[in-house]
Amino acid sequence: MLERTELAAMNREELTAWLGSQGHPAFRGKQVFEWIHRGRDFDEMTNLSKDMREKLKETAVAQPVKIRLHRKSSLDGTIKVLYELQDGNCVEGVVMYYKYGVSLCISTQVGCRMGCRFCASTLGGRIRDLTAGEMLGEILAVNRFLEAGDNSSDRVSHVVLMGSGEPLDNYDQVIRFLKLLREEDGIRLSLRNVSLSTCGLVPKMYDLAREKMPVTLCVSLHAPNDEIRRQMMPIANTYPIRDILEACRFYIRETGRRVVFEYALSDGVNAGRKDAYELAEQLHGMQCHVNLIPLNAVKERTLKGVSDRTVREFMQVLEEKHISVTRRREMGDDIEGACGQLRAAVLGGHPCGPEESDTGEGSYEEV
Ligand code: SAH
Repeated sequence: MLERTELAAMNREELTAWLGSQGHPAFRGKQVFEWIHRGRDFDEMTNLSKDMREKLKETAVAQPVKIRLHRKSSLDGTIKVLYELQDGNCVEGVVMYYKYGVSLCISTQVGCRMGCRFCASTLGGRIRDLTAGEMLGEILAVNRFLEAGDNSSDRVSHVVLMGSGEPLDNYDQVIRFLKLLREEDGIRLSLRNVSLSTCGLVPKMYDLAREKMPVTLCVSLHAPNDEIRRQMMPIANTYPIRDILEACRFYIRETGRRVVFEYALSDGVNAGRKDAYELAEQLHGMQCHVNLIPLNAVKERTLKGVSDRTVREFMQVLEEKHISVTRRREMGDDIEGACGQLRAAVLGGHPCGPEESDTGEGSYEEV
């Protein structure tokens, strides 16, 4: 079968040009673009002729992402979704409800090749990059899902690129995706409501800063020095903390936005008071915020989590040193909320082919 063209990856101008190449007049561009950003498939594009819809179906894909399963937390309403892509691969997402809106955690790759020792997403390596259209498709699928729910006016208002994958390892598609968010007639999500999390790919952090987008940069630091960081993250062998922090200072200068450091606490590794003091010293004078996360122990991994007391003590040291710090709200604890865990639980760590069914786990709801 011929590859079908993914229309969700295009901006309005590109879509209009593509439709033109198929013999459709220019005014169709706006119509089809609006339908796609409303999460509609060709059959639902009611202002197109039946003939046009049939032709489009043969050559193009409107919605590249479908929700295959979802699980809702009974604790806080967080919804974990497993998406299925056109080629049968799966990635996951998390919908979180906050006072300020609905936040969606987006995946940028199927799997990940960064190899962090505590993370479930990287267990099977990287299968492939997602396209910009697929990243947008994750939002469109969730918006459609919310529309059909109890609060039908709920829509994704905030996006965090913190699902599976390393966003800066798929740089061009991620930038294209971010630009699609602010297209006229599209979903029009402000880039101020977007956070991008990286394990610290230094050259790409500079590239991102030069884009001058008002995106919040989050850096998975997780350690106060390179020795500890190397035990947790192989990428620490390539980029030392000094270079990461220098890139962060550049990002702050270029964008005017503070950087957020993520720090997953693990007993016996990085969670002692000494570590907190060393971290405070590293971050001294920087326009930043620290997000503490009790490490969510993944069964295939050896790193442990920490007690509440350890988190509190670590936090106190940072506060004493005037570093802005919060503890990340743990959401969806009952639904394998951490990165890659739902996919790993459902798929046994392997990408799913369409032939593989949802074996084993009785409590997943089919959509
Ligand atoms: N690759 C990017 C984004 C994906 S991971 C990055 O490294 O930042 C999103 C965040 O979840 C990162 O801070 C990551 O280190 C963290 N994370 C992954 N697995 C975790 C676990 N088991 N417990 C706590 N945090 C975890």
